[in-house]
Amino acid sequence: MKRLLVPLLAVLACAPLAAADGRASDGPRIRVAIARNSPFIRLKTSAKVYVVEAATGKKYLLLENAAYEIKPSAGGIAVAGQQLSSPIKLVSPEGAERIRLGGKLYKGDIVIHAVTSEGLDVVEHLSLEEYLYGVLPVEMSPDWPLEALKAQAVASRTYALKYINPARDYDVTDGVEKQVYTGAGRANARILEAVNSTRGEVLKYKGKLITAFFHACCGGHTASSKSAWGQDVLKPLYGVQDPFCAPSRHSRWEVYASSSDLLKFIQSSGSTALKIKSVRVYKKDRSGRAVTLRFATDRGARDVSVNELRKHLGNTEFRSALITRVTPVKGGYEFGGRGWGHGVGMCQEGAKYMALKGRPYKKILRHYYPSVTITDYE
Ligand SMILES: [Zn+2]
Repeated sequence: MKRLLVPLLAVLACAPLAAADGRASDGPRIRVAIARNSPFIRLKTSAKVYVVEAATGKKYLLLENAAYEIKPSAGGIAVAGQQLSSPIKLVSPEGAERIRLGGKLYKGDIVIHAVTSEGLDVVEHLSLEEYLYGVLPVEMSPDWPLEALKAQAVASRTYALKYINPARDYDVTDGVEKQVYTGAGRANARILEAVNSTRGEVLKYKGKLITAFFHACCGGHTASSKSAWGQDVLKPLYGVQDPFCAPSRHSRWEVYASSSDLLKFIQSSGSTALKIKSVRVYKKDRSGRAVTLRFATDRGARDVSVNELRKHLGNTEFRSALITRVTPVKGGYEFGGRGWGHGVGMCQEGAKYMALKGRPYKKILRHYYPSVTITDYE
């Protein structure tokens, strides 16, 4: 690909800037941090893009189909070598092809702040509905049944709305700690339909938005937010039986751990043991998930939290706390379990199978979040 660095910015004295700042009203807006404290940003334009210096309102034009480097500089921001004050805003004319940053396509307005002398925050401002176009295809496979995608759209919309907070510099990040978001490049027609046909719908309990957690597969019973994270639990997040995800290939897992590795693990938490005699699930929550495991050792019993053990052995292998067996095998132990993820809220595999059985999305949502009302925001 041709990467052209345009050396100078054209200053626009009084050029028309149609619709650059005033997009059509499209419900609530959300600010997504797509880079934090980044030493530089490579921007590729696929249309004319304007750079607006917030403090002065001065506008500059970036050429189309060009590459630019944006860096922190002397307390401000250098764009193609030109010094501007922080923050700056990148806007493209309404309806035009937009901006690529780090290989991802973004359709919203981009605001860049110099947060330190060496780092830039890049925050995309867009409507919540457009944001969902970028969340849905990552959080659920776009080829899944439409009713499952619609259920995910409502859950993701509700989840994101809870984080909108004007007092902060941005509302959400684009990584796994919130919902994964990779820009606008991956939405297909089904994703658009799932978002558009549920437009504005959210989940409330007693008039308030719930935190609409979701996870890959519960393995037969969803977890309560209390046992997962010690949060006060509302009825919609108390945990329900789930027969629907049983056919999922993710409903069962097993993982092997050597005795020496397990010994190292309990020693790192302060045990002086030299030998493990047995391992078993010691305490379970209401959903059947393990809370603590008990290691019998030559120095007595050692109880450890299942979350610590999962972290040590790897959450992608040790997929859930729903342990169904601990089997001594040659040189170590085999752990077997069901489900994938924290287990709180909607089980995505179950949602898929409910949709395949013809259940509409509202029924899916009411199964996983009992007692919620599905309503418009506001
Ligand atoms: Zn399930």
